[in-house]
Amino acid sequence: MLVKDDLTTSCQLRQTIRDFYRIDEEQVIEHILPLAEVGVTARSRAWERARQMVLNIRKAEDGKGGVDALLNEYSLSSEEGVVLMCLAEALLRVPDRKTQDSLIRDKLSKGEWSQHLGNSDSLFVNASSWGLLVTGKMVNYSDKTKTQQFGVLKRTIGRLGEPVIRSSVHYAMKIMGKQFVMGTNIDEAIERAKDTETKGYVYSYDMLGEGARTMADAQRYYDSYLKAIHALGKAAKGKGPVKSAGISVKLSAIHPRYEFTHSERVKTELVPRLKALALAAKEYDIGFTVDAEEADRLDISLDIIETVFSDPDLGDWQGFGLAVQAYQKRAIFVIEWLEALARRVGRKMMVRLVKGAYWDTEIKTTQVDGLDDFPVFTRKATTDVCYKACAIKLMAARDVIFPQFATHNAYTVATILELAKDNNQGYEFQRLHGMGESLYDQVVLNDKVQCRVYAPVGQHEDLLAYLVRRLLENGANSSFVNAIVDDTKPVEELLPDPVEKLQDLRNKRNMNITMPIAIYGEERDNSKGMDLTDINQLMPLKENLDAWVKDNIKSANAAQAELVAVLNPANHSELVGHLKYHSAEDMQYIVSRAESAFADWSKTPITERANLLRRTADILERHRDELIAICIKEAGKLTQDSIDEVREAVDFCRYYAARAEELAQDERMEPRGPILCISPWNFPLAIFLGQVAASANAFSLGTSSVLTRSLWVNS
Ligand SMILES: Cc1cc2nc3c(=O)[nH]c(=O)nc-3n(C[C@H](O)[C@H](O)[C@H](O)COP(=O)(O)OP(=O)(O)OC[C@H]3O[C@@H](n4cnc5c(N)ncnc54)[C@H](O)[C@@H]3O)c2cc1C
Repeated sequence: MLVKDDLTTSCQLRQTIRDFYRIDEEQVIEHILPLAEVGVTARSRAWERARQMVLNIRKAEDGKGGVDALLNEYSLSSEEGVVLMCLAEALLRVPDRKTQDSLIRDKLSKGEWSQHLGNSDSLFVNASSWGLLVTGKMVNYSDKTKTQQFGVLKRTIGRLGEPVIRSSVHYAMKIMGKQFVMGTNIDEAIERAKDTETKGYVYSYDMLGEGARTMADAQRYYDSYLKAIHALGKAAKGKGPVKSAGISVKLSAIHPRYEFTHSERVKTELVPRLKALALAAKEYDIGFTVDAEEADRLDISLDIIETVFSDPDLGDWQGFGLAVQAYQKRAIFVIEWLEALARRVGRKMMVRLVKGAYWDTEIKTTQVDGLDDFPVFTRKATTDVCYKACAIKLMAARDVIFPQFATHNAYTVATILELAKDNNQGYEFQRLHGMGESLYDQVVLNDKVQCRVYAPVGQHEDLLAYLVRRLLENGANSSFVNAIVDDTKPVEELLPDPVEKLQDLRNKRNMNITMPIAIYGEERDNSKGMDLTDINQLMPLKENLDAWVKDNIKSANAAQAELVAVLNPANHSELVGHLKYHSAEDMQYIVSRAESAFADWSKTPITERANLLRRTADILERHRDELIAICIKEAGKLTQDSIDEVREAVDFCRYYAARAEELAQDERMEPRGPILCISPWNFPLAIFLGQVAASANAFSLGTSSVLTRSLWVNS
């Protein structure tokens, strides 16, 4: 009976997690804000502790000025910072030197590098500014000489300059890579860790590589995890998962189709792989953590984790863990679900609480995909509040969960230390290699709480995604690590209390972050997308598609002999409709209809025509599921491609409505006459409608093509 109750709770929590995926932000805040409230006294104690820590960090870091100072000087709010970021990212990806040189030439010529000279106390920063200034100037110089064909000597300097610039930028990238990466292989990393371990730190290694595109890639990453587990296991000498170095695994690295839409394949192929790695870690009794990745992977990751964690083969091993991102609106329920899972299975679990490293991506993809709302909070203070609420829950569940608090924010650390009160047992902190050293030197020494260092290991070519996340984190001015190296910022400014801040805000949602529907501003609404990783959206869509198929798809045997049968290209036994080729007379009739309609249409006021296009867009959206079904059955498209096709058609209508009104101001524009549109087979709806909408916009007529197409779909 007890087991059944636990299962019911788990199922309900999973449903709540789904309901909160992209819920209105205010509703989550209403739920989590009271959970994060600990009272004014505890808050001010944490604040004072954090203030002291910040002062100590500044003292310890004074004059060091490494990569963090460079990233501070070239933060992402400056144009030069963005240029550097683009360069860093792109140079890791561009394989050939010629393109690398063009890229450097293009990027470095843009910045105002001289403005940064002398801004920082750090020699490293100034030397870099100087280097960038010189190379930027050199690029401009050589460009000028080329266009003006001016002097062999100058041209030579220009040409000589490029390889030099390329090498120095690569060298700078290498320095950054070294800052964030522990070693090129696991043995090198274990060796390099020894010094830090003597100070009371432990490690969790991350074998670089994620987002495998092929099975071969996935196998390579899997092998490197397994090799690392054996190496770490031997070095652990049975110290157990808390005291020995462990491993962090990205599910996207060990399967190329780790996606919600491939759930079945993931269950049969990825689950056994994860279990095999977990069992290897269990053999040596070391820690094994599944990293958290993009929000659209969360639901499927919980299925995978539940299956592997519940497996009796894991015995009484307490090293299995996962990361939870507090910036996700559903984080608090994920924590509750994990606690319920650990209690149900009867085995302790490790839970690493992070704020989340994919914030920019989550915001941007939600906007581009036209989804209802974001899966993450839009204010940093809300993420901090949620982190605190989750931390309180984790601390209270220490009998079944070993909490691991991963943060570089002194206030967050101080808050956790206050939450732990006198019981500094049964949890640890975590930091990334190359970050947060001075903060945790204090915690390990004074508070005697263990800190684990997350240390990436791997080759230059696998570094890109990780490096970009670190550069974003270090370069963002909302980030604690960015603010702390800026001496001009008073300590107090670094430590706003998130609970107080959020309570005081009238608009809890950040109005500066444009909602997906509004990304085109006043001009037009963005077309509505659909999240196929959201079961709450997926189930009604499936019902509608099934109903459409039941009503419209016939057996191929029912094809009418006098017409051309349109069969589902993926299943020739399904008859989608019929096609009739026009005779010469039909065409003449159609053209004459178009010509006679043209006279009226060309006199129709532009606003009326534009509104007609807008209405068309709205009607398309209302009939979205039906159109998706047609795209799937008639054109053999995947569901996501079909959604995109309908969206594109909607966008075309709204876009050309806006253009038509804009062009109407131009007196030179005049009606051009009927236009024939031919739809390509692979975009039967979007490009066809795009052509028609564009021709209607060009003050002419697309009626003839509408007729041609409608025969196909509706017969
Ligand atoms: C050991 C370790 C392991 C990690 N593993 C993972 C992992 O598996 N998955 C993962 O995603 N990340 C992981 N991270 C990265 C982690 O998410 C970031 O380092 C972390 O978010 C930075 O938080 P902070 O407390 O150090 O800094 P802070 O400066 O206090 O917080 C910065 C964070 O606040 C959030 N934020 C910023 N602006 C906004 C905004 N406008 N609205 C809402 N939220 C905002 C973002 O999450 C941002 O990263 C890990 C970090 C560590 C230290």
